Parts: sequence; structure tokens; C-alpha cells
Amino acid sequence: MLHKIFIAGEWRKGRGEPMVSRFPADGSVNAELNAASRDDVEDAVAGADAAWRASSWRDRVPHERADILYRVSDLITARAPELAALQTRDNGKPLTEARGLVASAAATARYFAAACETLEGESPTQRSRDFLSLSQYEPLGVIAAITPWNSPIASDMQKIAPALAGGNAVVLKPAEATPLISLKLAELFEEAGLPKGLLSVLPGRGSIIGDALARHPKVRKISFTGGTSTGRHLAHIAADKLIATSLELGGKSPTIICADADLDQAVKGVAYGIFSSAGQACIAGSRLFIHRSLYDQAMQRLIAITGALRIGHPETPGIHLGPLINNKHRDGVAAYVDRARQEGGRVLTGGEVPTAGELARGSFYPPTLIDGLPHTSAVCQEEIFGPVLIALPYADDDELIGLANDNRYGLAAGIWTRDYRHALQLAGKLEAGTVWINTYKKFSISTPFGGAKDSGLGREKGRQSIHAYMQQKSLYLGLDATPISWCD
Ligand code: ADP
Repeated sequence: MLHKIFIAGEWRKGRGEPMVSRFPADGSVNAELNAASRDDVEDAVAGADAAWRASSWRDRVPHERADILYRVSDLITARAPELAALQTRDNGKPLTEARGLVASAAATARYFAAACETLEGESPTQRSRDFLSLSQYEPLGVIAAITPWNSPIASDMQKIAPALAGGNAVVLKPAEATPLISLKLAELFEEAGLPKGLLSVLPGRGSIIGDALARHPKVRKISFTGGTSTGRHLAHIAADKLIATSLELGGKSPTIICADADLDQAVKGVAYGIFSSAGQACIAGSRLFIHRSLYDQAMQRLIAITGALRIGHPETPGIHLGPLINNKHRDGVAAYVDRARQEGGRVLTGGEVPTAGELARGSFYPPTLIDGLPHTSAVCQEEIFGPVLIALPYADDDELIGLANDNRYGLAAGIWTRDYRHALQLAGKLEAGTVWINTYKKFSISTPFGGAKDSGLGREKGRQSIHAYMQQKSLYLGLDATPISWCD
């Protein structure tokens, strides 16, 4: 039976091309559905625009909007095991990681409910006795949210919650590979009592449905997470329409082991930073810089840790890496490793597609550690989005900063050192939206997240991020009862 999609408050068969959601661990079919068509985009956006205006959503007092988000958060928590299992089927993440994403989605909904209730407006300093001026935040209208396949439930909620909290309607276009968890979220919003039409979920191809959605005249903001070239394409559409964008894009993040680092802590943190989620994270710490004085020692430990990581079926307890999203992506990762070999790199662990047993049935790729490459090589410069770590030695901070910043991306960085003064000096010089010091890949919903350079534009998270889905309107109230004397 075809899975239905959620258009303007109704569950319908999509009118677009057939799509199949597959389990990346063995290629089995999770669900079949029809993608949304361009007509479905039209219906969803028209429905969102009408609902946003007519349902008085925009005019509801904040706690009424917050109530819905609190309810959704509770529903997610109550159904956490079911949602985590679905997330794992959808994109192959280890169940433990999927549970973390589900908890994060619940926390995000709760956080923006609370933020929505407590966010304050601004009252400018008065410049005249003749009038009082005020500035209010108003919703933008229909938001196009376009999300990738690597952490869908969390990235969907990071867009839906602040957008709804700000009084908008949302049309969500999930990634081709992962339609199911986003459709499930729609079910929960419906159950929580979100007025009809305020949320639609349109699975489909990015180049057709994502593009049509972004171009729709009634869409007033594009909130996107995904690859840099797609982000740039959407930014062009937004520029033509003169609408806002938030773009959370790719990364090639450096992690740095300084000469005085706690080596045990550092190598474990580095391994987690790149190999968790099988490296399929925009923030993966994929370039490792190690101070020359402890390069050999650090590499030995890293080879040992990497070799001991367990790769396997994502539902098996205790595994570290599940499959990649699909074979096409896995082959792309393998091609990068072949290129590293051609460029003279030494592949120290992994580096081969598994061809036997359970792993041969899915899109698996082992944790791979490479060194011996110049920093100009393609694998040092380009985002691989897989479990591939390139290690390089450095001599001093000047060389380190030059290398670390010699990349088009600027999403994140990690520093391992016992000296916080030194760490803060380095952090100040790194071109990155987030710098972790003696930790990595830790997140707080209250802390803004986003990239520098080709890693994006704008910030998500943090209570003020609701304002990214709103615009200011200024009001002037005359206080002087006498007529303006100009035409006397
Ligand atoms: P990734 O490499 O992480 O898959 P993409 O940028 O290709 O990143 O995809 C992220 C999201 O953007 C997905 O939902 C995808 O369908 C969508 N997308 C891809 N191409 C376009 C496009 N031309 N216009 C709008 N959305 C797109």
C-alpha cells in the first residue's frame, strides 16, 4: 500500500513520481510512496498561506502557540522508541544515535515553546517628546524548510519549531532518502492540534519539488540544511525573490591535537568526532592536525582505536558505525579514498568496501585513517561526508592556523589542549562557526549554530533564532495633540 503524504492538512497520495524508502543496512523496502508533484506544491503552499492568515495562528498569543509545541514534545517523548526505530530504518543510523536525535527533537520543541512564551520585543529609546516609537516582530508567512537525510527528525524540528513559534506556516521538503520520519512528525503535529494547513510535508526530488517550493511566490523564507552547491542555488532563488534564507551547509572541520593535549582524551574525542554517524555529519572533524612532537604516538593510538570500532547492523547494540545512506554515496566515499591513494596517501585503517557477510548486503564503509598527503590534495579540501579522517603533522601555531583556515568551509573546529589560554587564542583565529575545546560534537539548543565561509549563512538554535523567522514592524504613536505645523 502506498504511504500517504501530508498536504495542507490532508493525507493524500502524492501525484508525483514513485519513490521507495529503503533500509540502508540491507536494501529492504521500508515503504513505497508517490512523491509530491508540482500541483501538490501549489496546494501545500496555498493551504499554508490561507491557514496562516485565516486560522489566526499569527494572532494567537504566544502561550497558545507554545501549547502545541509542548504537546508535540510530549508526544515525541511518549513515542520515542517507535520514532528512533523509524529513524534508523529511514537512514541507517545506529539506534543509540537515533534515540539521541529523537530526544533532541523533543527538547527543541519544548525549548521553542518556552522561548515563544518568554521572548520580549524591543522598545527603542525615545528620541522625541512628540511621539513614541515601538518595534514589533511579525511572522513572515510561509516558510520553505528543506532538510537533508543525515539527522532528519532533529533538523526538521530545528526549523519547524522556531518557525511555528514565530507565527508562520511551514512546508517541509525532506530528503529523497528519508521521507518517513518527517511524515511521522506531521502526524504528531496533527495529533497535537496544530491548525490544518500550517504544516505540510512534501517528499520528492530536490531538483523538482525543492526547487518549485523555493520558487513559489508565496514562500517568504527558505530555511535550508544540506550541501553547499544546493545552498548556493537556493540563495540565488532567494535573491531574485528578495526573501530571507538560512543556510546550514557543508564542512571540512579541522581538529587539532596540541603538544600538551591529554592524548587519551584527545584521540577518543577525535575518533568520535569523525567516525560517529559514519562520518555523515556536516560537523564531522575530518581533518586532523597533530603537533609534530606527538604525531607518531597519537597516530599509533588512533590506529588502535579505529581498528577496534565495531561496524555493523544499526539495530545491534554496541556497534559504533552503521551503514552509509546508500550504495551510491558509499561508492563516492570509496572513490575519494582511491583518489587519496593516487595522490600518495597512506591508508592506515579501512579503505575497502566490505565484500563478505552481513556488511556486504548494506551500504557499509569502514572507518578509514589516511596520512602522508599534502594539504592541497582533494581529500583534504573537499567534504567526503563519510568515515574518512586525514591526519597531518604541524610544527607551530602559525603553520597550524594557515593550514586549518586553508579551506573553503568554516563550520566547526576542535582543539585538544590542557591550556585554555592557548585554546582561546587559537579559537579566535579559526574561521569557524563553532569551536569545541576538549570536547567535540556536543550541542546545546540554547547555543547558536551555523557556519562561516562556504558553510552557510545565518544561525539556528538559541531563543533569538525565532527572529530569523520574523520581521520587524515599527510603529510611531503621536503624543502631541496640536496639528503638524508644516502646512499652516
Ligand atoms: P546532501 O548532499 O546532504 O544530500 P543536498 O543539498 O543534495 O545535500 O540535499 C539536501 C536537501 O536539499 C534535500 O532535501 C534535497 O532533496 C534538497 N535539494 C537538492 N537539490 C535541490 C534543488 N535544486 N532545489 C531545492 N532543494 C534541493
